[in-house]
Amino acid sequence: MNKILPNISSATDSSATIKRRVRTLIDRLAERHELTRDEYLYVLDHITVDDTAHLFQRAYEAKQPHYQNRVFLRGLIEISNHCVRGCRYCGINRNNRSLQRYRLQPDEILDCVERGYALGYRTFVLQGGEDPYFTDDRLTGLIRSIKTIHPDTRITLSLGERSKDSYQRLKDAGADRYLLRHETASRRLYEHLHPNDSNFDERIRCLYDLKELGYQVGAGFMVGSPTQTNADLVEDLMFLKDLDPHMIGIGPYLCHEDTELAGNDSGTLIATLILLALVRLVCPKAMLPATTALGTLDKLGRENALMVGANVMMPNLSPEANKALYEIYQNKIRAKDTDQYDRDDTKRRIEAFHHIADFSAGDHVDIERMIRHD
Ligand code: SF4
Repeated sequence: MNKILPNISSATDSSATIKRRVRTLIDRLAERHELTRDEYLYVLDHITVDDTAHLFQRAYEAKQPHYQNRVFLRGLIEISNHCVRGCRYCGINRNNRSLQRYRLQPDEILDCVERGYALGYRTFVLQGGEDPYFTDDRLTGLIRSIKTIHPDTRITLSLGERSKDSYQRLKDAGADRYLLRHETASRRLYEHLHPNDSNFDERIRCLYDLKELGYQVGAGFMVGSPTQTNADLVEDLMFLKDLDPHMIGIGPYLCHEDTELAGNDSGTLIATLILLALVRLVCPKAMLPATTALGTLDKLGRENALMVGANVMMPNLSPEANKALYEIYQNKIRAKDTDQYDRDDTKRRIEAFHHIADFSAGDHVDIERMIRHD
């Protein structure tokens, strides 16, 4: 197997011709927003540390016409760590018997929304494992309650694979956005990471269904997962170009010792930043979170992400007692103080890197334009 980005070492590793070609391809991607499979692979196989400065600059510039330096803040509420699936990399998969499980009740979720609303958040992300307790009826009731109390908010769901009919019902109740990371667009790697109970075609089907139903759709993938190659990452770039999602979550694979993949190396900051920057050039209008996983990997991981094209952050509004239990990977960073402190600290971090914290609903630029013209 190829090692991920094997040439990330020093500027002198690359001959002048290779360097020129890598830069030409980065510039072409910045202008046309797509490359061929072979061209993507060439960039991934040959990019050096020296070339990353050029890539990162182009990616930073690419978000400017659409979002400038605004960073959209979303309030994250982790509603359940129960999950029926057995994804081999995930700390809350159903086989982890050492994990204490919880699920929030509707009044607890509404309480998180109230606290978040008072702090200025206008998008709430309800995230959880695939928990059958959250039936369509329970979720539609919850979504309607939030939208009745706060019609100026956006609700993002991140609750895994459901039927098209279910997605339709949730949308009709008022859900605006749905995050469903595809995790990898390589069928081989997908089947390696989800060997028994998860179907690659089904996952992809869900994303296209969500798009067809009019959601703002979020896809995304892990960088550095065990056995991933540069060719696998090329599949992600090609897939994202085709799906053209509104949001794309990219984080490093972080090894969890209570999973089947214990003992593997985690992804790296540099590889994740390179993929984030490439994705910004492929989908210049997409909302790209500076993920908590990046902040876990490196204490300035999220700030670095802002400098290479990211424009979303998601402070955690879950009840304090539950935050530690939503452990999809280990050592997840958590606010050590109140939600207010977390909000102010996130804002400070954003401003320290010359960005602006934006608490508005923060729709994708095309949706925002559509709403304005209605
Ligand atoms: S990755 Fe998602 S679906 Fe898979 S076990 Fe974890 S929470 Fe469940």
